[in-house]
Amino acid sequence: MSEASVLSPDDLQRLIDTLGARGYSVIGPTVDNGAIVYEPITGADALPTGRGDEQAGGHYRLTDRGDSEVFGFTVGPQGWKRHLHPPEQVLWTARRRGRGFTVEGTGTDATAHAFLGVRPCELSAIVAQDQVLTGGPFADTGYRARRDGTFLVAVNCGRPAATCFCASMGTGPAADGHYDIVLTEVADGDRHIYYAEAGSEAGRDVLATMNAAPAADADREAAHRVVETARANMGRHLETDGLPEVLRANLDHPRYEKVAERCLNCGNCTMVCPTCFCTTVEDVTDLTGSEAVRVRRWDSCFTTDFSYVHGGAVRLNGHARYRQWLTHKLATWHDQFGRSGCVGCGRCITWCPVGIDITEEAAAIQASERSR
Ligand code: SF4
Ligand code: SF4
Repeated sequence: MSEASVLSPDDLQRLIDTLGARGYSVIGPTVDNGAIVYEPITGADALPTGRGDEQAGGHYRLTDRGDSEVFGFTVGPQGWKRHLHPPEQVLWTARRRGRGFTVEGTGTDATAHAFLGVRPCELSAIVAQDQVLTGGPFADTGYRARRDGTFLVAVNCGRPAATCFCASMGTGPAADGHYDIVLTEVADGDRHIYYAEAGSEAGRDVLATMNAAPAADADREAAHRVVETARANMGRHLETDGLPEVLRANLDHPRYEKVAERCLNCGNCTMVCPTCFCTTVEDVTDLTGSEAVRVRRWDSCFTTDFSYVHGGAVRLNGHARYRQWLTHKLATWHDQFGRSGCVGCGRCITWCPVGIDITEEAAAIQASERSR
């Protein structure tokens, strides 16, 4: 008998309720301001049923699919990182007390979250951030507390966007571990089911509590077809063999100057990227001088200030900043963390206002290396 189970569309509400009853605040995909975003939800009616998305370089539109698929979209602008590694975080507050002052930390948020609808590429991005933020000798305690309390319900991809290339990066379209439960939505003919597999004891327990029906071989085959169809329809490809070496050997490639003519240095690519982790720290005081707050905010290697060291900024022009970003993602991340810093989600392509495409830029450098 298969260990996998089958859930019906109505079971999504039971899944949300079961997670809620276990103390999780459920965060899932929902539509806001014309995009799919990840927000707290209490009902399956908040999920984007029948919505799809159309993505291209510098282009994103939600579509009405006119069907009952709940996960018929790919990814929106937000990664899950905003819930694990928030864009803004107060580190401490200092208050004047007579002739001295006191300092109060903010503690860590004890809310346990269940993420519903994590795409395989996004799971890989969470694992990448785990490595960066908790893998070294000085772990980010806030991140670790949020991450340890998180239950992950992944959803395999059936419909990659034109900007997706997870298959090249080995991160999708099927999840490979690191989840509590993974669902595959199968909607063909009269059948509409979620093929569900547990990846942890907690996941097995949730599915057992729901009395999920065991899956049949035909269900497994149908789920397999969904991800294989997605794999065959990837919008983009990135040749990863030897790529770090090619990029390291071409740091002065004229392509970087070419891309800099288009790059606005807006930093959108770093804000939407689910693996980007850089931050800056600001101290903010009130006008009376009685309170000071130290705030940590996401930062971007596309700002001049980001590379400021004594005497000035190190990366003074756009091409140096773009090169830093691309080579970190695709080459030096391997040196630091033993893997790529890109999971192939395609967000940086979709949300770049001028449609700069990381796969195209890397391929151009690879092509000139081959022609030498
Ligand atoms: S570099 Fe682009 S495609 Fe790669 S993970 Fe970041 S946003 Fe996604
Ligand atoms: S590559 Fe695109 S998204 Fe990134 S900074 Fe340049 S213009 Fe903005």
